[in-house]
Amino acid sequence: MLRCEVCGNPIYGAVNTVQIDGSTLQVCQNCVRLGKPTRQTKEGSKSPPFKSSTPKPVKPEKLLDELELKEDYHKIIKQTREKLGLSQEALGRKINEKPSVIRLLESGKLKPDNMLARKLEHFLKVQLLVPPLEEEL
Ligand SMILES: [Zn+2]
Repeated sequence: MLRCEVCGNPIYGAVNTVQIDGSTLQVCQNCVRLGKPTRQTKEGSKSPPFKSSTPKPVKPEKLLDELELKEDYHKIIKQTREKLGLSQEALGRKINEKPSVIRLLESGKLKPDNMLARKLEHFLKVQLLVPPLEEEL
C-alpha cells in the first residue's frame, strides 16, 4: 500500500504524482492541489491562464459616424414632403427647423448632419443615411 508522501495517509485509487518544491512526490487526492502536476508541466500555473496575448483593440461605437448621406437626399426629402402634402414651413415646424433650412436641404445646398438626418428619416419614414459600402456601387 502506497502512502501519501505529504500527509502519510494510505492512497486509495489513483496515485497522483506532483511536484512540490522541486521534488516529485506521490500523493493522495487530498494533497494533489498542494503541488504541481508533473504530467502537464506548465510554468507558473498559478498565474492567470489568459494573460494578455494581444490587447483587444477598443472599437468605439461609431456606427452613426460611418453612415453616409445619400446623394439624392434632397430629392428624397422634397418628394416625401410633397407626398405628405406638407409645405416647407410645415415640415420645418414638425421637425423644429426653420423653413429656410428645409429649403436649403431640398435644393441640396445644405447637407443635414446626422442629428437632422435622423430627424428627417424618422419623420418622413425614409432612409437618408446609408453605410458607405452600399454607396460605392
Ligand atoms: Zn495526502
